[in-house]
Amino acid sequence: MENKKYVYLFSEGNLSMKNLLGGKGANLADMTSLGIPVPQGFTVTTQACNKYYEDGLLITPEVTLEIHAKMAELENITGKKFGSMQNPLLVSVRSGARASMPGMMDTILNLGLNDNTVEVLAKETNNIRFAYDSYRRFIQMFADVVMNVEKRNFENIMDKMKEEKGVKVDTELDASDLIILVKKFKEFYKENKGEEFPSDPERQLIEAISAVFRSWDNPRANVYRRLNDIPSEWGTAVSVQEMVFGNKGETSGTGVAFSRNPSTGEKKIYAEYLMNAQGEDVVAGIRTPQDISRLEKDMPKVYGQFMEIVNLLETHNKDMQDMEFTIEDGKLYFLQTRNGKRTVQAALKIAVELVEEGMITKREAIMKVEPKQLDSLLHPNFDIDELNKSIVIAKGLPASPGAASGKVCFTAEDAKSKHELGDKVILVRLETSPEDIEGMVAAEGILTVRGGMTSHAAVVARGMGTCCVAGCTDLKVNEETKSFKIGQKVYHEGDFISMDGSSGNIYEGAIKTVEPEINGFFEIFMGWADEIRSLDVRTNADTPKDTAQAVKYGAQGVGLCRTEHMFFDADRIMLIREMIVAKDLDSRMVALEKLLPIQRGDFIGIYEELGERPATIRFLDPPLHEFLPHDDEDIKELASDMGLTFDELKATVESLHEVNPMMGHRGCRLAVSYPEIAQMQTRAVIEAAIDVRARKGYNIIPEIMIPLVGEVKELKYVKDIVVKTADEIISKSNSDLKYMVGTMIEVPRAALTADLIAKEAEFFSFGTNDLTQMTFGFSRDDAGSFLKDYYEKKVYEFDPFQKLDQVGVGKLIEMAANLGRKTRPNIKLGICGEHGGDPSSVEFCHNVGLDYVSCSPFRVPVARLAAAQAEIKSPRKK
Ligand code: ADP
Ligand code: MG
Ligand code: MG
Repeated sequence: MENKKYVYLFSEGNLSMKNLLGGKGANLADMTSLGIPVPQGFTVTTQACNKYYEDGLLITPEVTLEIHAKMAELENITGKKFGSMQNPLLVSVRSGARASMPGMMDTILNLGLNDNTVEVLAKETNNIRFAYDSYRRFIQMFADVVMNVEKRNFENIMDKMKEEKGVKVDTELDASDLIILVKKFKEFYKENKGEEFPSDPERQLIEAISAVFRSWDNPRANVYRRLNDIPSEWGTAVSVQEMVFGNKGETSGTGVAFSRNPSTGEKKIYAEYLMNAQGEDVVAGIRTPQDISRLEKDMPKVYGQFMEIVNLLETHNKDMQDMEFTIEDGKLYFLQTRNGKRTVQAALKIAVELVEEGMITKREAIMKVEPKQLDSLLHPNFDIDELNKSIVIAKGLPASPGAASGKVCFTAEDAKSKHELGDKVILVRLETSPEDIEGMVAAEGILTVRGGMTSHAAVVARGMGTCCVAGCTDLKVNEETKSFKIGQKVYHEGDFISMDGSSGNIYEGAIKTVEPEINGFFEIFMGWADEIRSLDVRTNADTPKDTAQAVKYGAQGVGLCRTEHMFFDADRIMLIREMIVAKDLDSRMVALEKLLPIQRGDFIGIYEELGERPATIRFLDPPLHEFLPHDDEDIKELASDMGLTFDELKATVESLHEVNPMMGHRGCRLAVSYPEIAQMQTRAVIEAAIDVRARKGYNIIPEIMIPLVGEVKELKYVKDIVVKTADEIISKSNSDLKYMVGTMIEVPRAALTADLIAKEAEFFSFGTNDLTQMTFGFSRDDAGSFLKDYYEKKVYEFDPFQKLDQVGVGKLIEMAANLGRKTRPNIKLGICGEHGGDPSSVEFCHNVGLDYVSCSPFRVPVARLAAAQAEIKSPRKK
């Protein structure tokens, strides 16, 4: 719905307007209506942002007029005047999308300053140092964000000045230093841009708003959105807000606060602040911040008011809050609140405790934890014995839990490229900034020299579930030589280190990791999710070990056992190669006889782990090339095993070569050519089930799944072989075992003819990896290389192999499900592609009425939670 109003005063907005005002804008409006001291301002809407892009990167006169009108109202509210030589109004221009994207977009502070207003400010506050400190900050931010003059340039100028003066931190520069610094900044700007720094506040304002709109589309924001499923059409809002100043001297300061500990979830205020500082100083780690307990001593009254507001905001928003505050001359202001990002451990503890405190219901608690986050809960910790033997070489702040070992890298690009080559890397930085996002994603662990628990590195790492140690000042990093020094010892790029994000300890070398222990909050929370959800969650597991793991994580059965994966082991692959290259039935039977006991043994192991839980076993499927011997060495070895000559075997291998193996002789096509393969596999499954049933008493009903079916007759052909073989074994062993035969729906033709296929198939499992590949018509082995271009050019916003394409592939699934049910009302329906563990795809499966999703063991809790959230959003249970 188009809205004709593009600008709202804080006093005109409320929390329900998040889509229009962005999270930050809506929360500023909400805090205003709660009577919390918030500097006033107005928000330019996300629709104005979309309009800006539609109008060709232009803020139209219509919107400009509205901005001016609201600025006039703000002048009335504050009693100050924008750009005036008397009591000038200074503002910040802040970005804020619907979902929080910390640090991904840009903010400008102290806007409205120029050579004239800075003098007025200095006089009116009787504080020259403060006025010029604000001005130099403004020039740097404006030049960087609006004019593309990188802030690094200005930092260098300032560092040089500090060096010349022999001082360490910015607060040691005095008024006259800052006046000179401003001059130097402006000179540099002029040299670089060929024009004076813009002094007209009106122009500053409109250009700043445009720049924030543009920052919605910067590369790091795009990467962040793709990682977090945020669509580009949401746009960002821009809030323009009266400045308050934490950099006025020693009774002023700025800080960030969490109402509970974002790392552990402990119900205790967690806050840091810096006196005589502004904006991002705390987060950027420019100086090491103070703990909030210090404020209680230094300014008890401010502290009292601060705690009152923190509690009010948490109770009001019914969640842990992440807040920004500033103290100006002893007066407290709040600048932001939002539901805080947190580690998964903290998320579970907070969700459970908020229910226990009576603040929220179980269903509300379920909606508070991001399913994707659960993934990181299951990631490894250090082996305690190895850890005890290791020596701590440095210690920093435990910023995000987990354990990591890897090779040291010093830039985000290095981390990314090493990771792509298959190395595990630890990214070591002085401090991270949003440009580092891709390197941070690639790293096992992130180690920074500067910054506190709320630094950029810490916040982002916690969000990603990556281990992080921040503020590790023991490290003397030399970015030029790509090395760091601890004491006398030098470590170079590529050296192994280990780090523990829960203790902050850094170790030399690689340390073995072990599976994590799952705590009580996880069990309670997941219990609630299980009570709520209607969609079952199974797992993709090919071995007894994976099956046991998945059962521990709550899997209700195996949705996909890929029988060829049982043969990837070095000693087994020879046997399957022997079968594949067999020239005739006799030699194939010899190979199959050797495979039978191995396969039966694996099935027995899986059935024993599962107990009464069901297992879908898929018959041999792989493109042949995955198993053929590749080099002459392998061919020689296999030939001698099989009593063939090298040349004979080489010729066979060459004759099996396919131009397009993904669409070649695979799946049920193999069983049509070589029925004896299906016979052997049927024997293995049925004999294993009879055996475990007899020994353990479990009521096992094997589910045999025929892959890559596109035509009901090919399914029927293979099914007849399965049924004949199975029935013979069952009757011979006087068993009353029941079993089912079904198929994968993974070829578009199968989806299109699902009503016919359901005549033979007792269940469908959507194999969405192949179905995606064949529906899009691009190979999943090759798509990676060109999909990059598609993301860059915004043709696609996500990888259809990770997140189900609901529009196209989803339509096939929904249609096939309906057609299948028409023929066979009780047909069992599931999905077993990678998508089974992706939250938005799980929601889709819930909505089209599938019975279960199946995903890798680590993803099982993710899917359980996503299924519960889907049920809450759109109930299926009566
Ligand atoms: P981000 O979304 O990256 O956190 P913000 O818009 O919150 O960016 O602003 C960056 C910093 O500037 C924050 O520390 C914030 O508190 C501070 N800030 C923003 N507006 C003002 C203001 N009007 N007065 C004082 N500080 C401000
Ligand atoms: Mg902020
Ligand atoms: Mg397949």
